[in-house]
Amino acid sequence: MSAQTLDIRAEQAKEIISYDPGTGKEIGRAPIVTDEEVAESVKRARRAQVSWAGQSFHERARIVMRARRIVLDEMEEIALLISRETGKPVVEAISMELVPTLDLMQFFARRSRKLLRPQKINIGQYGLMGRTSRIVYKPLGVVGIISPWNFPWAIPLGEVVMALMAGNAVVLKPSELTPLTGLKIGDVFRRAGLDEGLLQVLTGDGRTGAALIEAGVDKIMFTGSVATGKRVAESAAKTLTPVVLELGGKDPMIVLEDADVETAASAAVWGAFSNSGQACASVERCYVHESVAQKFIESVVEKTRALKQNLGAGNEDADVGAMSSERQLNIVEEHVSDALKRGARVLTGGRRADSLSGSFYEPTILVDVDHTMTVMREETFGPVLPVMIIKSEDEAIRLANDSRFGLTASVWTKSVRRGRAIAERIEAGTVMVNEVLYTHGIAQTPWGGMKQSGMGRTHGRLGLLELVMPQHVHVNRIPRLRDMWWFSYSPRAARLFRGLARRFATGNVLQTSLLLPQMIRRLIEHHEKTDRKNRDAR
Ligand code: NDP
Repeated sequence: MSAQTLDIRAEQAKEIISYDPGTGKEIGRAPIVTDEEVAESVKRARRAQVSWAGQSFHERARIVMRARRIVLDEMEEIALLISRETGKPVVEAISMELVPTLDLMQFFARRSRKLLRPQKINIGQYGLMGRTSRIVYKPLGVVGIISPWNFPWAIPLGEVVMALMAGNAVVLKPSELTPLTGLKIGDVFRRAGLDEGLLQVLTGDGRTGAALIEAGVDKIMFTGSVATGKRVAESAAKTLTPVVLELGGKDPMIVLEDADVETAASAAVWGAFSNSGQACASVERCYVHESVAQKFIESVVEKTRALKQNLGAGNEDADVGAMSSERQLNIVEEHVSDALKRGARVLTGGRRADSLSGSFYEPTILVDVDHTMTVMREETFGPVLPVMIIKSEDEAIRLANDSRFGLTASVWTKSVRRGRAIAERIEAGTVMVNEVLYTHGIAQTPWGGMKQSGMGRTHGRLGLLELVMPQHVHVNRIPRLRDMWWFSYSPRAARLFRGLARRFATGNVLQTSLLLPQMIRRLIEHHEKTDRKNRDAR
């Protein structure tokens, strides 16, 4: 029976079937929840969140650390599940999904209290008038997380942990290609003792995601394609629900003449082909200086040919696994074919892996590419590395910025100073000097894109701040005195206000001090008026 027939039957049965893309075999099934169930789950989350918000950071952290213990104990089982649902090697599931999340769990469990502690604001001269200002960070309420299939564990789990530590309840909609991994996240937290209303995993398809937005959550954390991200933003705008959009990338790597060419070549191969190239921050374009181009290209071709491609499970030495879906593999084929028609050359790969029956595409190096080709403009999201030769640093920067995307970029040079200067000229949310791809794995650093790669941040303090509502609390410690700018106005008040514009608004205390006599007269005026009013009233 074909996968398509099974899909139709599953649709009728209101179920998703999860397949192993390496073998095409069914792994398991998950329900497609109805719109009514989505709305009910959000209500349930809202009820549960009230007491969770009242718990201390310490109590929240205890649950997260218990969940972390379970993840660690069941690491092999979880990695195998991720591998079977996505096609990636088990070892890669451990290195790219489990290691970073175990680290992130301990980091936010231990640090959220400090990262979200109330902050005093220096209010300048208003402080001299006996006033203080603080920001306190309040939970948002219910956070809806909609996540993709490429890192079905690391992406949603990181956001779940941050949202929970900030005092929110979460409703998570995982991708329909990886529902079982999503359900496993819910299962881990349930067994860690988290109230079931606080983290609900709703499996389904795109309609389920749309229903989650319509169900009235307080924020949407969306990770996925630009096209869906725009639909999400449009739908969220109807209720002014804030959104964080973590979208696609076309991430450039620049290799300059003073780079360590061998290391850069190894980085390019890992950056382009890990996760079968299906990372939003994969190296999708490489610009190499003409003086080192030949050496660099020979090296990446040699390293690429040495990669072992195989089923992700049961092969500890497999470097590159299957692609997660035939649909994604077809996109890769289209990009390569368009490039070849326009004059590109394949140095290795460029086709399906014949020896393997699942959705495998050979790691591919393309040269003679240019920006008229789809492979240099649109997200390929597969194991393809197009390499373009450049003549200067300026040309590399211009080409790197010639994209509607701006997620990450990397610059390779032995001069850290030069690397930093170039980094600041590149339009990307993260620019790495002598590194590629991996900073999503650092819990402390912000993650997010510029341009059409999205808006908002996840991870780090900036990411945590997306999951709280900052509230400004302003206190006047001298409540008996009325402000000089209050009613009633008078010629004396007008003179003072003009003085405030000229002197107080300079921010200079000495200038303001020249207004003291006028200020005192204004206070007296206020009091005289009040006394008169009181007398009249008697
Ligand atoms: P999609 O945009 O297709 O889907 C993302 C999620 O949105 C899925 O859960 C999907 O459900 C859901 N969805 C689909 N339609 C709607 C809708 N109308 N309303 C609400 N939710 C909806 O992306 P992919 O899953 O294909 O993921 C790949 C993309 O994600 C790539 O572009 C990649 O670059 C990007 N990405 C970005 C990252 C970042 O941090 N910037 C990180 C990882 C990936 P379903 O799958 O069930 O259809």
